[in-house]
Amino acid sequence: MQEHLPGATTSLPTRGESPDRLFQRMEEARREDADWRGGKLAAYVYHAEEELLGIAQRAYAAFFSENGVAPNAFPSLHRFETEVVAMTAGLLHGSGAVGNMTSGGTESILLAVKTYRDLARAQNRVAGTPEIVMPATAHFAFNKAAHYFGLKVVRTPIGSGFRADLKALESAISGNTVLLVGSAPDYSFGIVDPIRSMAGLAEERGIPLHVDACLGGFLLPFAKKLGYPIPDFDLGIPGVASISADVHKYGFAAKGASVILYRQPDVYGHQTFEFSDWPTGLYSSPTISGTRPGGAIAAAWAVMNYLGEEGYLRLASRTMHTARALMEGISRIPGLHVWGEPDAAIFGYGSRSMDIRAVAQEMSRRGWHVNGMADPPGIHITVTPAHEPTVTEYLQDLAMAAESAFGTQPVGNNETATYS
Ligand SMILES: *Cc1c(COP(=O)(O)O)cnc(C)c1O
Repeated sequence: MQEHLPGATTSLPTRGESPDRLFQRMEEARREDADWRGGKLAAYVYHAEEELLGIAQRAYAAFFSENGVAPNAFPSLHRFETEVVAMTAGLLHGSGAVGNMTSGGTESILLAVKTYRDLARAQNRVAGTPEIVMPATAHFAFNKAAHYFGLKVVRTPIGSGFRADLKALESAISGNTVLLVGSAPDYSFGIVDPIRSMAGLAEERGIPLHVDACLGGFLLPFAKKLGYPIPDFDLGIPGVASISADVHKYGFAAKGASVILYRQPDVYGHQTFEFSDWPTGLYSSPTISGTRPGGAIAAAWAVMNYLGEEGYLRLASRTMHTARALMEGISRIPGLHVWGEPDAAIFGYGSRSMDIRAVAQEMSRRGWHVNGMADPPGIHITVTPAHEPTVTEYLQDLAMAAESAFGTQPVGNNETATYS
């Protein structure tokens, strides 16, 4: 938080404010916020349509006060969570898989890392610091988890086309490796790792493989049904031990909703924390959060049932269509290149002949909310149905931005990033 935000209140008001004044102030406060409805924001909000948003909001408000920490007190939330987990397992070919809803992808990943650390401990498998082996493109939440829980992360270099390199992963595995991670897709390039080969490697070495499908869990299964060439990535592959999928991304639920799933109940058992040595007695908690917002659980359940397979197929079609149109359009602009061959609707692009940062600056000037990429330098977009109406305008502005940057020097135009 900023300590010295200009004009910020520094103390609790003595008297409460009127609702009118309060909401007026909140509307004023958000004046500079990104316009996520208008299709000019490149990340953070997965917006599809107003009616769907209304369903999520109504469900969230209906269970605003209920607390997911107490399934006994709120059997409704227990039912919603159980059904969201089961529906997600069905989607990801994990019949019989067990798990929980969590507050988001980060919590799902934290839990997976903690679970495999504790599993390795219980099996007395490693003598040194437990290690996670993963391609350099895996999400930083695994590093966060390793930092919190005392593990070490080994990020392996990626190969040509920004694809994970199986050989590099193989040689990074040591006697201390407790977890292998693959992404479906990765956040940076939107590429699905070779999960089938990685699962084979994991089985061969007796190491669990977690698939981070936080981004793709609610998009790839539908894109595949629509005929897009999506590689296998889920619990349908025997060597995949667990998977995380965010309902608050392409599941279009309210924020605060992800699912973590394990193939084996005894592995899942290591996720739960139990404690009884305090005045209240036994406390058993499967997730990191104690109190859990009932609204997020209810909204995820409501949205999944409201959309159904038909609704998700319709939204996946719009999402994939829009992403393809943007990628093709960008590739046709002289000097610009999409990095690799993205499998889903998230991608980065850059240039080998001009300074992409100058292009980004011009796009910002033209009113687009631009996200940057560091290595290789580029521009990054998470495509949603909200971008459908702005494809033509985006590409026109981008062509002009590229023209205005013509003659600038490219920055670090390496095709194989190093991430050292
Ligand atoms: C978003 C994301 C995460 C983290 O999820 P949060 O919901 O932001 O905590 C992890 N992995 C991938 C690939 C993601 O896209």
